[in-house]
Amino acid sequence: MKALLVYPEWPDTYWSFKHALPFQGKRSAYPPLGLMTIASLLPRDWQKRLVDTNVQKLTDADLEWADIVMFSGMLVQKPPMLEMLARCRRRGLKTVVGGPITSSVENMTEYADHVVIGEAEELIPGLARDIESGAAKPVYRALALPPLDKTPLPDISLIRPKYYSGMAIQYSRGCPFNCEFCDIIEIYGRVPRTKSPAQVTAELDLLYDAKWRGSVFIVDDNFIGNKRKVKELLPVLAEWNGRRGKPFTFFTEASLNLADDAALLELMKSAGFTRVFLGIETPVESSLKEAQKMQNTRRSLLDSVRRIRDYGMEVMAGFIVGFDNDPEDVFDLQVQFIEESAIPLAMVGLLQAVPGTQLYRRLTKEGRILHEGFGDNMDFRLNFIPKMNPERLVEGYRSILERIYGAEAYYQRVRRFLADYHPVHRQQHRVCDYVAFCRSVLRQGVLSRDRAAYWKFLLDAATRYRHAFDTAMTLAVMGYHFQTLTRLACDTE
Ligand code: SF4
Repeated sequence: MKALLVYPEWPDTYWSFKHALPFQGKRSAYPPLGLMTIASLLPRDWQKRLVDTNVQKLTDADLEWADIVMFSGMLVQKPPMLEMLARCRRRGLKTVVGGPITSSVENMTEYADHVVIGEAEELIPGLARDIESGAAKPVYRALALPPLDKTPLPDISLIRPKYYSGMAIQYSRGCPFNCEFCDIIEIYGRVPRTKSPAQVTAELDLLYDAKWRGSVFIVDDNFIGNKRKVKELLPVLAEWNGRRGKPFTFFTEASLNLADDAALLELMKSAGFTRVFLGIETPVESSLKEAQKMQNTRRSLLDSVRRIRDYGMEVMAGFIVGFDNDPEDVFDLQVQFIEESAIPLAMVGLLQAVPGTQLYRRLTKEGRILHEGFGDNMDFRLNFIPKMNPERLVEGYRSILERIYGAEAYYQRVRRFLADYHPVHRQQHRVCDYVAFCRSVLRQGVLSRDRAAYWKFLLDAATRYRHAFDTAMTLAVMGYHFQTLTRLACDTE
C-alpha cells in the first residue's frame, strides 16, 4: 500500500511568519509533526510519502503514485484541504482526514471517504487493516484519550529539515485550565498527559542526528500543565542540551502561572528556553472572568511578564477583543498594556467561537452564532453576534493592529524590551542567519518605506543593545512579517 500524507497550506496569519521566512531562505515555520507521527503508526510495509504544501506543490505525479491520500490539519486550513480532497475525488482516489479539523467540522464525511475524530494512536492500526481489506468505515472516533507512552517517534525521514525555520516536538497534551473559548481542552482533555523524559530525548536525538541545529518548538498548548512532571523533564533536557554543546534553543506555550514558580523558571532557563508564548488575552479583569481564565486574574499581568523575562525568556503573547464584558475603551487598554509590557510580538485577534467549545455552546443557546467560523482570529468576519456594535468592534480591532505594528511604535517597543532583556542562551549561528541579516539590510534598510525607522533601530541595536544584538535582528525581521501582514489585513498599502 502506498500512503500519501498531505498537509494543507497555512493562510497568511501572524502565526504563519510567511513574510519573515524568505529572509532565512525558509519555506515554512515548522514541519507537520502530526502527520510525521501518523506515518510511524502506519504498517511498516506500507510505502509513505509526505507532501507539506507549505514547502512543495502537490503534483499529479504524487497522486498518480498513491493508493490512499491522508490529510491532517486545523479548521484554518479547511479551504485548501477541501480543494485537494475534491482533486483526489476527481481521480477516484480514496481519502482519509484527521487532525483537529475533524473535531470542528461536523460534515467532513461529505468531502472525505474516511474521517478520524480524536487522537489517532489507538485508531490507526485498525484503520490501516480495514483499508487493506477494503472494509474501511466512514468514521473512526477515539473513545479514550491515549497515554502518550504509546506515541511513536515521528518519521523525520519524510521531510527536509532545511525548508523549516524550526523543528517541532510534543511533550504533553491537555491543559488543566478551563478557558471558555478553548478547543484544546475539548479535544485533549483537562488532565495533561506527558511523554517520559526518555521519549523526549529520543526525539531530540532524532533531530540532532538529522543535523538539525537551532530552534525547537515544543508544540504543547500548555507546557507546564503538569508542573511536577515538567520539573522532572527539565533537568534531563538541560543535561542533554549541555552535553552536546547546546545545539538547540527551545520555545513553547505556557499558562501565565509560570510566573509564580521561580524553580520552574530557573529550570527552563537552564534547559535552553529562549521564548515563551503566553495567553494573556486581555487586561480587563471582568472579561478574563467571563472567559473563565481565572489563572490570569487577581494578579499584576505586567509583573508576571517581567518576571518571566528576568529568566532570559522573551515573552510572546496572545490578546483577544470581543468579550461581552469588554468596555468601549478596550482597544486603548489593550494597546496601553502591550506597550507597557514591551511585548514585541503581540498576537492580537478577534474572539472566535470555535465549534465544540463552551463558548460556542453558550452562544448557540443565546442565538448568537452566525456560522462555524474560519479558525483564523485575524479574520474580520465575526462568527457570532457580539455585545459591542460589530462595526465598532472590527474597527477598534483594526486600530489596535495599526497602532502596535506601525514601524515607529514597533521599534520603540522592541527597544524597551531590549533594555530589560538579558539573553542567557545564544543560538549557534548558521549560514542562514548571516543570509537573513544581509537580506534584512537590503529589504528593510533599502527597499522598505520604513527604512529610516529601521536604520535608527539598527544603530541602537549595534550600540545600546549590543548585549542582545541577535535578538534585536530577529525581532526586526519578525517585525517585517507583522508590519507587512498588518498593512495587508488593514488594507493600508
Ligand atoms: S490555558 Fe490555554 S490551553 Fe489551557 S484552557 Fe486556557 S486557552 Fe486552553
